[in-house]
Amino acid sequence: MDPKQRIDEIKEIINKANYEYYTLDNPTISDYEYDHLMKELIELEELNPHLKTKDSPTNRVGGEILDKFQKVTHAKEMKSLADIFSYDEVLYYLSTVSKVTDKVAYSMELKIDGLALDLIYEDGLLVQASTRGDGITGEDITNNVKTISSVPLRLKENIDIEVRGEIYLSKSRFNKINEERMKNGEELFKNERNCAAGTIRQLDPEIVRKRGLDTFIYYIVDPLKYGLKSQSEALNYLRYLGFHVNPESKEVLNKEDLLDYISSIDEKRFDYDYPIDGVVLKYDYFNDYEKIGETVKYPKWAIAYKFAPLEVKTKIEAIDFQVGRSGVITPVAILTPVVISGSTVGRATLNNEDYIKDKDIRVGDYVYVRKAAEIIPEVVNVIFEERKEDLPPFEMITLCPKCGSPLSRKIGEADWYCTNSECPARVIEQIIHFASRDCMDITGLGDKISEFLYNEGMVNKISDIYSLYKYTDVLLTKEGFKEKKVFNLMDAIANSKNVNLDRLVFGLGIKNVGKKVARILSEKYPTMDLLMAAPVEEISNIPDIGPVIAKCVYDYFKDEKNIECINILKENGLNMEYTSSKTSEVTVFTGKTVVLTGSLSRFSRDEASEIIQNMGGKTSSSVSKKTDYVLYGESAGSKLTKAQELGIKLITEDEFLEMIK
Ligand code: NAD
Repeated sequence: MDPKQRIDEIKEIINKANYEYYTLDNPTISDYEYDHLMKELIELEELNPHLKTKDSPTNRVGGEILDKFQKVTHAKEMKSLADIFSYDEVLYYLSTVSKVTDKVAYSMELKIDGLALDLIYEDGLLVQASTRGDGITGEDITNNVKTISSVPLRLKENIDIEVRGEIYLSKSRFNKINEERMKNGEELFKNERNCAAGTIRQLDPEIVRKRGLDTFIYYIVDPLKYGLKSQSEALNYLRYLGFHVNPESKEVLNKEDLLDYISSIDEKRFDYDYPIDGVVLKYDYFNDYEKIGETVKYPKWAIAYKFAPLEVKTKIEAIDFQVGRSGVITPVAILTPVVISGSTVGRATLNNEDYIKDKDIRVGDYVYVRKAAEIIPEVVNVIFEERKEDLPPFEMITLCPKCGSPLSRKIGEADWYCTNSECPARVIEQIIHFASRDCMDITGLGDKISEFLYNEGMVNKISDIYSLYKYTDVLLTKEGFKEKKVFNLMDAIANSKNVNLDRLVFGLGIKNVGKKVARILSEKYPTMDLLMAAPVEEISNIPDIGPVIAKCVYDYFKDEKNIECINILKENGLNMEYTSSKTSEVTVFTGKTVVLTGSLSRFSRDEASEIIQNMGGKTSSSVSKKTDYVLYGESAGSKLTKAQELGIKLITEDEFLEMIK
């Protein structure tokens, strides 16, 4: 597209978005879309400087100033912050600052998603509060701000000072306000920020008081006047004066700690009771600010790293069908690729037929896609306003896409299954699962090789893995199979014969038997023979195992084909016994429930959980009255706060080390 045409197009969208966001407090596009359009515009203007006009939104801060309130001219401009979105951009930013100063010292702060506030105190008394407005002129909101209880009307010292920060609304207050509005049939606020912005512009301070706004103050105008050298010192001074200062700020002195801070906050960004949309990096030493400089719109000594949203808009190009190891057919959306949380997503699960029909998802639709940590991307909802043509509704397939056998769906179940137990797609998936890390841990037998060996007729079922050595010579003649690769694979297969019984049980792929159930079964039946002979009622009486799982286990071991498979595995010398790592002694964790939160430096969460389980304890993901201990690491969030409120015993990593000695 011609750059001028694109620039005009983006400007039009941004101007409309600014009006909706700043004036109406009612945005219709996401901040993510807005920020990326702004980024594209900045890049286009940089490439084509002759096309940059004075009225470009890239030159402006904020929106129009409303006439409702008195206007206030800021003695020192209230600028915005430049945005960055990736670690590469963070490193690039640090490198630009390091060209001016050789110190790496940053005050890292949460980026509160509210609206900027300016407060002026004379002789220790609050005399004026104003909004940022367009950065030069703001609105006088003194009467409204006086109703916010965290804003001190008088400071600890009788000084003249101008400070800045953020007005925000907590998530809990926001939910209460919207519940109330729903009851009264009023229009709901879109999010905390828009509710806070709408509230502060109310003409009646009583409404403002009732809404329960809050503030975090993070900036002193002219800090050198107060003998302050750095932003970290300034935050402490603000605290001392009586302001509400966010407790999560941290002074970092190297790149690694800086990136760690960003990732730890990103991980728990939804744990705070107030909205944040990123972190702010502020170079710490005021003396260097002038050298580092500013642009018309933002300072260069600070920058905002914005978190990517977990939900991103994209288009469904097609719907594909995957066959799982149990024969389950999973519809998968093929998407126009989008970046979510730093990685490109081109496929997302659609779960099953009902999920698609309930949400009325159709090929050609624009949808929101979500990717949370460790969860497969999924389509959250259709953006119906953008459904342009009459798209045909989704129809479930009736034949297996891999082997052409008919599909069946049991009454009461949401999934369709391929009825052919020898369907190649199913068998390949079973082999992949059996060889995976949590099961037999056969390095070298991943997706591609499993499929290849199946297609070559060398591994047609899981037990064939242990006869693969017979094909060593043939394999060596195949493209891509060098000697080292083949011998490593054979070694990994031989080593897998020694894995513990619970992994083998998990690897068999019994329906509804995951890693945890396999372990519980192996604790109860420590040999394969005992497990195979277990009566169904007995299995269903095991704590944490219900009748559905019990029946799946029982049926699996009654099937002739499965018995034959296990016999072959036995003949090949696979370990069929369980060695419990659980101690029988009574330990500090016996019978106790432990919740882990924050990041530990010497263990992964899995490792710590395993130790607790081996010592007779249980781990849980949420804190309740039933929790005995909370083991917390660095940057622990709301779970720690909740545990403190409930008076639950807290243990540090050092204390944990002591306890497990
Ligand atoms: P910004 O929100 O990207 O960042 C600057 C602001 O961050 C500062 O002015 C300050 O108010 C705030 N902030 C929060 N915590 C801070 C801290 N610890 N230290 C310093 N500052 C902190 O910029 P902006 O100019 O306020 O607003 C522009 C943004 O608003 C856009 O990037 C976009 O995300 C959003 N917006 C969205 C739409 C829409 O239609 N969705 C339209 C207009 C603007």
